[in-house]
Amino acid sequence: MSNSDHVLPVFTAFERRETRVETIYQNYLLALERAGFDGDIDGSYSGRLIAATDNSVYQQLPQAVLYPRTTEAVQQAFSLAQQDTFRSIQFSPRGGGTGTNGQSLTAGIVIDLSRYFNQVLEIDAEASWVRCQTGVVKDALNDAVRSYDLFFSPDLSTSNRATIGGMINTDASGQGSLVYGKTSDHILELKAVLLNGECITTAPKPLAEAEQIAAGDSLEAAIYRQAIATCVGQRAAIDEKFPPLNRFLTGYDLKHCYDPAREQIDISRLLAGSEGTLACIVEARLNLTAIPRHKVLVNVKYSDFHAALRNAPFLVKARATSVETIDSNVLDLARNDIIWHQVAEQLQDVPDKPMRGINMVEFTAVDDAEINDKVNWLTKTLDELIQGEPELGLIGYQICRDARSIQTIYAMRKKAVGLLGATKGRRKPVAFAEDTAVPPEQLADFIAEFRTLLDEHQLHYGMFGHVDAGVLHVRPALDMTDPADEVLLRKISDRVAALTAKYGGLMWGEHGKGYRSEYAPSFFGEALYQEIQKIKAVFDPDNRLNPGKICTPWGSDAQLVSVDATKRGYFDRQIPIHVRDDYQAAMNCNGNGLCFNYAADSAMCPSFKATGDRRNSPKGRATLIREWLRLNAVQHFDPSGFPLKTRTEFLKQVPSSEQFDFNHEVKAAMDSCLACKACASQCPVKVDVPSFRAKFLAWYYGLYRRPSKDYLVKNVESLGRVMAKWPRMSNLISHNPLSAWLTRQWFGYVDAPKLSVPSATMRWKAHQWPQLDESQLAQLSADERQKCVVVVQDPFTSFYEADLLEAFGKIAAQLGYKPVLLAFKGNGKAQHVKGFLTEFSRTVDTVVNQLNQVAALTIPMVGLDASTVLCLHDEYRDYTKQPLNYRVQLVQQWLLDVLPEHASALAMRSPQHSLQLLSHCTEQTAMPKAAKEWQQIFNFWQIPLQLEATGCCGMAGTFGHEIENQQVSRTLYDMSWRTKVEKSEVITLATGFSCRSQVKRMSTKKRALHPLQWLAENCA
Ligand SMILES: Cc1cc2nc3c(=O)[nH]c(=O)nc-3n(C[C@H](O)[C@H](O)[C@H](O)COP(=O)(O)OP(=O)(O)OC[C@H]3O[C@@H](n4cnc5c(N)ncnc54)[C@H](O)[C@@H]3O)c2cc1C
Ligand code: SF4
Ligand code: SF4
Repeated sequence: MSNSDHVLPVFTAFERRETRVETIYQNYLLALERAGFDGDIDGSYSGRLIAATDNSVYQQLPQAVLYPRTTEAVQQAFSLAQQDTFRSIQFSPRGGGTGTNGQSLTAGIVIDLSRYFNQVLEIDAEASWVRCQTGVVKDALNDAVRSYDLFFSPDLSTSNRATIGGMINTDASGQGSLVYGKTSDHILELKAVLLNGECITTAPKPLAEAEQIAAGDSLEAAIYRQAIATCVGQRAAIDEKFPPLNRFLTGYDLKHCYDPAREQIDISRLLAGSEGTLACIVEARLNLTAIPRHKVLVNVKYSDFHAALRNAPFLVKARATSVETIDSNVLDLARNDIIWHQVAEQLQDVPDKPMRGINMVEFTAVDDAEINDKVNWLTKTLDELIQGEPELGLIGYQICRDARSIQTIYAMRKKAVGLLGATKGRRKPVAFAEDTAVPPEQLADFIAEFRTLLDEHQLHYGMFGHVDAGVLHVRPALDMTDPADEVLLRKISDRVAALTAKYGGLMWGEHGKGYRSEYAPSFFGEALYQEIQKIKAVFDPDNRLNPGKICTPWGSDAQLVSVDATKRGYFDRQIPIHVRDDYQAAMNCNGNGLCFNYAADSAMCPSFKATGDRRNSPKGRATLIREWLRLNAVQHFDPSGFPLKTRTEFLKQVPSSEQFDFNHEVKAAMDSCLACKACASQCPVKVDVPSFRAKFLAWYYGLYRRPSKDYLVKNVESLGRVMAKWPRMSNLISHNPLSAWLTRQWFGYVDAPKLSVPSATMRWKAHQWPQLDESQLAQLSADERQKCVVVVQDPFTSFYEADLLEAFGKIAAQLGYKPVLLAFKGNGKAQHVKGFLTEFSRTVDTVVNQLNQVAALTIPMVGLDASTVLCLHDEYRDYTKQPLNYRVQLVQQWLLDVLPEHASALAMRSPQHSLQLLSHCTEQTAMPKAAKEWQQIFNFWQIPLQLEATGCCGMAGTFGHEIENQQVSRTLYDMSWRTKVEKSEVITLATGFSCRSQVKRMSTKKRALHPLQWLAENCA
């Protein structure tokens, strides 16, 4: 690797053979555009890359991604492809892209319905059904019907990002499937676009009517002819082959397509589980279930996982609605995750008995009495077993009755796959044999053999799943960048396929087949496989819809996809190991899609939520960075670390939208990141976008010229320090109409806040509180030091919210402490955000040196702005060789330390209106206890504080001030903040400076205060 002049290469990726859109596809896309396609056509390299992976080990670059807005647009895309010139064009529909076996990956065109097909169209609460478009996310659908006490009951772990279309096409199911069934059990009607552009509606039809349709000459007629021939004609063979399991199959469901009891044919049953190989489904009418009013969860604890598995059939017999299990590996990972603090109380350790497995037993009922009967029986029996039969490995249980706690336990279970991704080392858990299903009573023996197989190869793994349905999720850890492990994957895969067959089960019990479709012929046997092929042939004779998945069309010589298809590891291993290590935050993304969370009030990920563009998500950004690293490797350029010296500015290129350079595509995705850091803590493998974004920007601006606004941001602290000396005059200069216009035109900045008048130092002086540097602090006597509390300044509070700083001083003084303002050395967060990493390193060294000296004096240090305080402990770590020997507390942490002793010194007036707290997103994700800590503080004076869940406010430091971000900033505020802030008779408290500034500029009537400001204003 050579970095001769340390300047990033230009990447004209389209010129590379492997990445160029094929000519026929280029012509097709052009023709589609000219025909007025209603939707987005994305042939960009970045747009294709984000559809090239899912949660599987595979990577397949599509030619383009279409985002249709209407059913007519889908019909148009298919009809155009019927023209002779475009006969070889292939398609794969896509929803949330959370498939675990490459289900939606294609070398053709991806039709992504998640962007625009997300409307709930009709709800009939009386008849308990809903009609929706298929790009609707499952949890969003349930949000829409919740007020009717109804829900769409098939569950899946990815419910906050998987779409109804994806669920239908993988026939998804999960927790509670014994009672709630699979997705296909709830389909009343589907609207599907066939490859010839025809749109059909499928629903159960009497055989006679089906035969009548079959007599026609449309494609629909041909489909009915084949369905009748196969599903009625081959009934005996079908009955014999389909396993009598709750998870009978995913794929063309020949068995349920014909109901002999009712003499009905239902084509929806063929479409369900068809993985986009038969049609593009655009609408669904789905049956809804009454929300059970009463729910109790009994968490049963075991000394080992095998004991948990062995005990599961007994739990099912206890008339449970569902029994879920997790092993010790998952439990241990959860203990180290942000989720644990929410569930720890429900999963307390049993003294002297390590907990190495749990079963979560759920009971639901319409009335309390019924549930209590079941729970009482179970707990009585468990008590007897724990006492009388210790060899069973049962060590205890806990009952969980409140809905919120039950929800968080399930949230932990749903996060299990992601948590496994956090396994240390190069080998990471991967999906390829992760949803085996066997008869539940055989599960323990099956798993024992499965574990022996994995142990033979010294493979680490975590296990969890639905023991009631015999489905266990097992993800062995492999290093997919190691060719030897790729070989091992094939070997294990074959052995697991054989093992499931031995136990009368199937390899695809839940997630569909995808690249595992090669096992289908041996599973179905020749005769039945041919029938499946005939179904495919009638829908898609030329193998153009998600080709190679499930089966090939009858009569064609097309090939099935294979477990050996090109994997992500093939691309990743082209990046040198030290570079991968340097960009671990991006390399570790396993594509589980948790960062696509749709919920407006969740912190993850604001830029994706506001734009609906998956490039603007943590996964999107990690994907683009990985490819960027690979392209660097191909060009022998080493982007590890950051450039120590760069060209002088005038020698750099001016970025031009005319010139294609993949660097620009990566940069565009990075620009829309708010650097809120929700990903760094919420992503189960801690994909920390701001960390690699900063490095990328440093390299990018080594090649290209920076905009002038970046220099403004870089110098915001030193500038602020000078201006704050004469705040009134500085405000006059910076906030007159001419300078506002110039700032907007020149720097692209709007709504900059005014400096505080009087300034922080003036206020401090007025109270005669000391302002000291580290050496002056060292001169204080031990006695004097004991009474001090040092405020570590941040630019936001010191320059723009000096009254907050003063509020802290007042409260600290009243509590008997001497507040000391530590000399301001800067913080540098803005430098990091903009990728001025040399300057940031310098700031870090200066600040660390200062804070280490103060820490040695054992004086408590407090910071008022969460994002800058967190930066001192997080980003700082990677940019200095000095140890970080200090701890700067957030103000609420310090208050909680001192209030138990001193709270009586402060009397508080009761609020006239109720108080609500809206937390800063960086703080709520990195320090999930913060909001509760404020609640505890207010509790010292019996003042209730309502905690409101919110997403990002849309400001995030300087992001919301940049002119090009105005739309996103406003959208985010409207999504999650506006309604809460505008509530009448409620006082809003907000912990973030950015959030308070955002409220100020977005609301004409309301203001938000820092909780400390409220306390200072209201102490009697
Ligand atoms: C962490 C994790 C946990 C999971 N847990 C579960 C679980 O508990 N239960 C479960 O069943 N699955 C689970 N899965 C698998 C996955 O989430 C499901 O298969 C889900 O149904 C896929 O939905 P999606 O919207 O992401 O579909 P995608 O992945 O986008 O697509 C899945 C398949 O459906 C096809 N498709 C999508 N939309 C359409 C459409 N409108 N018309 C035609 N074809 C379409 C695609 O071509 C593809 O073949 C899990 C996956 C992950 C990553
Ligand atoms: S960034 Fe994190 S949450 Fe998003 S897909 Fe990757 S691993 Fe999952
Ligand atoms: S920092 Fe925030 S906006 Fe940026 S990728 Fe992470 S979650 Fe999304």
